[in-house]
Amino acid sequence: MTALSVARVLHGTTAEGPFLRTAVWVQGCSIRCPGCINPHLFEPGGPDADVDGLADAIVTAGVEGLTLLGGEPFDQADACGFLAERVRAAGLGVITFTGYAVQDLRSQLADSPVHRLLAATDLLVDGPYQHDAPESARALVGSTNQGFHHLTERYRSYDPATRRNRIDIRISADGDTRLAGFLTRPGLRSLTGSAAVNLCASSLSTPSESPPGTQPDGRSESKALTSSATWASARRMRSPASRNQSRY
Ligand code: SF4
Repeated sequence: MTALSVARVLHGTTAEGPFLRTAVWVQGCSIRCPGCINPHLFEPGGPDADVDGLADAIVTAGVEGLTLLGGEPFDQADACGFLAERVRAAGLGVITFTGYAVQDLRSQLADSPVHRLLAATDLLVDGPYQHDAPESARALVGSTNQGFHHLTERYRSYDPATRRNRIDIRISADGDTRLAGFLTRPGLRSLTGSAAVNLCASSLSTPSESPPGTQPDGRSESKALTSSATWASARRMRSPASRNQSRY
């Protein structure tokens, strides 16, 4: 059994890359950028997920692809690489976020597991978060130094400069609220009112993009809404802390 230390799994989200995705936040990051929005993911350890079982769940979720983020996926490169290989073998795409620079990853020894994850990644988003260089023009990244590297052609048409960040909000029957995506501090404050619920419905039912092989009529987005309700009741996720600009 290959084990991966996982902090959170979110199926059927449109907030962590193009199309409908499963997002996997891994536990542990040795980079520890000042101002990181996920300091609770710094320490390694936490629940171990069986990679085979996790891959099966992702494929069964009917998403277009997997997003690996954290935490630092390359700190668990072998397990993340195995997971990425498994879902890719089923036809899914893989986006990996890393705080390392792509050139540093590529310079690792040929037998390093780093290359396993690189080889199984379609789109790599690289670079540490720099709190003194906030990004305001591109989706998905928090600072201007971070780069998009198309390691395959799969997401070549995705242009973060023309996309807007999306937020995934899941509210359970007991009021437990769980977020994914990218928030500003004012945006986070605005979620304390009823507008938060409206935003949830709007963001998940008004498609701006459709996964390959689906109709551009929002059917996949409707599926996301159904999935959202399911996962809100099935999962307990962290509530966000207020920060300047936050990815959850
Ligand atoms: S921003 Fe990413 S790479 Fe930097 S400390 Fe946070 S999780 Fe690690």
